[in-house]
Amino acid sequence: MCGGGGFIGAHLVKRLKSEGFWVRAVDLKRPEFSTTAADEFVEADLRDPALTLRVMDGIGEVYQLAADMGGAGYIFTGEHDAVVMHNSATINLNTLEAMRIKGARKVFYSSSACIYPEYNQLEPDNPNCAEDSAYPAQPDSEYGWEKLFSERLYLAYKRNFGIDARIARFHNIFGPEGAWCDGREKAPAALCRKVAETLDGGQMEVWGDGKQTRSFLYIDECLDGVRRFMESDFSGPVNIGSEEMVTINGLATMIMKFAGKRISIRNIPGPTGVRGRRSDNRLIAEKIGWAPSAPLEAGLAKTYPWILEQVNARKAITA
Ligand code: NAD
Repeated sequence: MCGGGGFIGAHLVKRLKSEGFWVRAVDLKRPEFSTTAADEFVEADLRDPALTLRVMDGIGEVYQLAADMGGAGYIFTGEHDAVVMHNSATINLNTLEAMRIKGARKVFYSSSACIYPEYNQLEPDNPNCAEDSAYPAQPDSEYGWEKLFSERLYLAYKRNFGIDARIARFHNIFGPEGAWCDGREKAPAALCRKVAETLDGGQMEVWGDGKQTRSFLYIDECLDGVRRFMESDFSGPVNIGSEEMVTINGLATMIMKFAGKRISIRNIPGPTGVRGRRSDNRLIAEKIGWAPSAPLEAGLAKTYPWILEQVNARKAITA
């Protein structure tokens, strides 16, 4: 599990362990909010080709989730473009080459909804994120361009070296044990934190005009999708996301319900990404019969209490 110390990677390790696999996790850092479930955890930098080769010893199946990534505040400001592209591309180049040399045969690659062209996501109400709309390419971020390059890299290794590469495009995965306050958090976690920190009757800030739309997928649903995909005979690229679209202000209001608070929203300028985005799940439904099993609210109901706990714990430390 490359990226086994990260949000989705750490959860996926637990899932694979519960299914009886032996798992080696590799990451720059251990999971921040829980103890790893991996049989072996290697703290290593996958930008280093020699280390990448070493951690590939004896491995049959690879999940490649390591990336230099974050929410809008990290990937849409432009300040991190060069490092994001350099770091993530290097990780993917090293991973595939190590797999080729060591004979690992199957790999899951986590691509992103950010590869979809900006011109199909200009309106909040009817974004087009069907898999076959990826080209002509025009992602709105360098993070998205790197993902698209790496998708092609995985496809090339599949074509030329017979590696069974599976590519999924995640759409906004959220849940407990994700980044929530380090500048890399994404909208659901950031909004849960703001709601938790704001007093009833108070005011909180939301980036953009709040009318931009997205769809969000709860972590457990994502893990189901990934495992079903890996066990199928379909190789993608395929969306793994939810089709339930909400505005960002709507998401904030939904979270307030769980907090039992009425908070007014002040929309302020900030990095927002495309105007509208939603997973299109027709292909994954057709190929492997997968769809999320519960609405967005069900995932938020499990995520908000976890973030509230983090906020309270931090308050207790700084008090
Ligand atoms: P995350 O940041 O929590 O996990 C990524 C992990 O990669 C981190 O633990 C990080 O330390 C590790 N990493 C970074 N550089 C490394 C290096 N040089 N060597 C070793 N490890 C390194 O992110 P996540 O939300 O768990 O995302 C996992 C994957 O899914 C990423 O590839 C991401 O681009 C993709 N994705 C996530 C989402 C989402 O909504 N979370 C959406 C689309 C795509």
